[in-house]
Amino acid sequence: MQEWEQEEPLIIERGKGSYLIDTEGKKYLDGTSSIWVNLHGHRHPVLDGALKKQLDKIAHSTFLGLSNPPAIELAYELIRIAPKGLSRIFYSDNGSTAVEIALKMAVQYWRQRRPEAGPKHTFLHLKLAYHGDTIGAVSVGNIELFHSRFKPLLFSTLEAEPPYCYRCPFHLTYPTCRMACVDPIEQILKSRHRELAGFIIEPLMQAAAGMIPQPAGYLQRIRELCTKYEVLLIADEVATGFGRTGRMFACEHEGVTPDLMAMSKGLTGGYMPLAVTLTTDEIYRGFLGTYDEFKTFFHGHSFTGNPLGCSVALANLQVFRREKTLSRLSSKIKLLAKWLNPLAEIPNVGDIRQCGFMAGIELVKDKRTKEPYPLSAKAGHRVASIARTKGLILRPIGNVLVLMPPLSTSKAELLKIVEILKVSIETAAIN
Ligand SMILES: *Cc1c(COP(=O)(O)O)cnc(C)c1O
Repeated sequence: MQEWEQEEPLIIERGKGSYLIDTEGKKYLDGTSSIWVNLHGHRHPVLDGALKKQLDKIAHSTFLGLSNPPAIELAYELIRIAPKGLSRIFYSDNGSTAVEIALKMAVQYWRQRRPEAGPKHTFLHLKLAYHGDTIGAVSVGNIELFHSRFKPLLFSTLEAEPPYCYRCPFHLTYPTCRMACVDPIEQILKSRHRELAGFIIEPLMQAAAGMIPQPAGYLQRIRELCTKYEVLLIADEVATGFGRTGRMFACEHEGVTPDLMAMSKGLTGGYMPLAVTLTTDEIYRGFLGTYDEFKTFFHGHSFTGNPLGCSVALANLQVFRREKTLSRLSSKIKLLAKWLNPLAEIPNVGDIRQCGFMAGIELVKDKRTKEPYPLSAKAGHRVASIARTKGLILRPIGNVLVLMPPLSTSKAELLKIVEILKVSIETAAIN
């Protein structure tokens, strides 16, 4: 904050398509989709229209004991497109709370429905996981810089090594490793399943960890193990959901249905804060009982099921259908890979990782030894500052440059993004 105060502030006043426009009228490509939320570009007429139309009816009424048409309609739509078996919806208003809800539901489910399964109130998660910034979400997260100072406030969890192939914790190489990193996970599930309510995971890509993708088949193995040891699988699709990976949801790539699933970021096309936690009928039934049994899930927010958010989320799904967003995305995903590929030649680029329309470029001090830059070198920040002067907004994570443009970004804009990124890394010449 102290250093940021010295910098020239950038104040975004407007947006149009893939561009952000500041108070001086200067245009910037939105290389982060306004932190991973925007899908169809800014000022999309269908999304703008849906919000205006809903405003003419009502902006908000409570969801506690009442309901509203856009929330009902959206629930049906989400169930239709979600992995088969997810048939119940719980609304909230951001990704962190959608995760908190999944955790609380898992614990309460085991208590009420299957108490004989054990005192199941612990969670297993991967190291480097990020599930949001509220205390429960931080408890199941593991990003040292963000989380370590809050340790005394967190509940205890079990952790496993992630499949970070570039820096494999087991010093093995994929695919000859045959995913040896799953074995310790099985050991934990086998020995501790009576305490474990759930295993929470970002399917396919640990995004905030610095874009760490999982090898093909990994998620499916985790699903099989969770089923075998009776531990609920919680998929946090807050970053990966709504087309980011090339399919509507990351779980689809592996034919996996989680027991609970959190969505938020892209849900409204990046327009409004809205989130959902989806679950199965089996879990839903664990919360049914007579009034005086108090099996209720006591969790509600002031803006739960907000009609403006739900109506723009419906419009978001409508745009996916009308504009064939997903089928038009596949060629752009291939082009992104093709255009990123030459960046591997740059001396301080260690690894390029991509899953669909999300990519991370890891900068290293020494390419041969993979020695990272110390955070104090501000490697990512320096590249992003240069990119900004060239009309591209980036938000790096430590030494990893993140590319996450809106799904609607045109091929020409995408090429421009990669070109600015390349020149910025080269000119930053960090040593
Ligand atoms: C962003 C994110 C969250 C938190 O969502 P917020 O809306 O910022 O609270 C949770 N999980 C993942 C995977 C995310 O990327």
